[in-house]
Amino acid sequence: MLCLGVETSCDETAVAVVEDGRRIRSNLIWSQIDKHQKFGGVVPELAARCHLEVISRLTAEALEQAAVAPEEIDLVAATYGPGLIGGLLVGLSMAKALSLAWQVPFVGVNHVEGHIYANFLAHPDLEPPLLCLTVSGGHTQLVLMPEHGHYELLGQTRDDAAGEAFDKVARVLSLGYPGGPHLDRLAQTGRPTLMLVQHDALAGTYDFSFSGLKTAVVNLVHNLKQKGEPVPAADVAASFQRQVVSILLDRAFRALAATKVKTLVLSGGVAANSELRTRFAAEAEARGVKLYYPPLSLCTDNAAMIAACGYFQWLRKGASPLALAANPRLRFEPPLVGAGKNNP
Ligand code: ATP
Ligand code: MG
Ligand code: FE
Repeated sequence: MLCLGVETSCDETAVAVVEDGRRIRSNLIWSQIDKHQKFGGVVPELAARCHLEVISRLTAEALEQAAVAPEEIDLVAATYGPGLIGGLLVGLSMAKALSLAWQVPFVGVNHVEGHIYANFLAHPDLEPPLLCLTVSGGHTQLVLMPEHGHYELLGQTRDDAAGEAFDKVARVLSLGYPGGPHLDRLAQTGRPTLMLVQHDALAGTYDFSFSGLKTAVVNLVHNLKQKGEPVPAADVAASFQRQVVSILLDRAFRALAATKVKTLVLSGGVAANSELRTRFAAEAEARGVKLYYPPLSLCTDNAAMIAACGYFQWLRKGASPLALAANPRLRFEPPLVGAGKNNP
């Protein structure tokens, strides 16, 4: 079964063709980063207009690269939230129009659930039950997935998402936008010796908090600048990254021990982080846990993950109504497990 996926929730226009939810036939991404760079962040109006300009051409190219004729497509999937409303509307309208024109079912996909499905593309043998740590620009969640489409929330961030913290710290260190990859690179040249926060206030829970760490960096840099002293940017980056990864490791591996689940998957843009990958791999090996993460290209936003997620959703629940509205604040909030225990 061939699914065409469309992703336009942020600043990447993406269209992909995926076979049976597992095999990528084409996966095109048109990044607008250069358009937003001079503003230091995504400008929603500009993003929507850019999506509109390229989406038709990108769709034609995705079909061409997959060597697939429009009439061979069986299903169309698009992100309907969360994200920027203007962008979501472009992708969603495109997908609905194609569904009508080609007379095939349409499926609306939750972007954050889509990130998890990047793993099913990368690893043909991967099957639930599994534990998933999602670390993206807007989300940080630890989710138990007993089977396809079923999720139980173990913990989530109380304030900033991991990616958001990376981006803000990178900005304070003047590393450019988006900051995560820059900070990752710089950290490799630094020493992680600065104690930015003294203790983990949410230790013992499965929740996350990164705003204290972020503020510690902001204050440190501010104080050094005021005193006219040089900022040891590489050491700050390495220390920040060390602490973020330590918190993520602690939550994920405690949850694995508690649930006795033996498979851990990482998803979202921060899963591209080199220290995160190395330390998670070492810990997984030591604890006999199977660790999966997507290749770098599938960690950040793409349409193949939306097509994969859409396919598995269609198998379970069938098509979405064509009246499905874009939802900028769509939640991915599965039922909370052990609420009292995790959130004292
Ligand atoms: P969401 O999926 O929650 O709506 P998003 O789509 O903006 O948010 P993603 O595309 O999953 O998020 O990931 C982008 C984030 O990943 C950015 O915050 C970026 O800085 C971060 N990131 C990318 N590469 C790395 C890296 N190597 N190290 C740390 N962070 C990274
Ligand atoms: Mg992006
Ligand atoms: Fe994303």
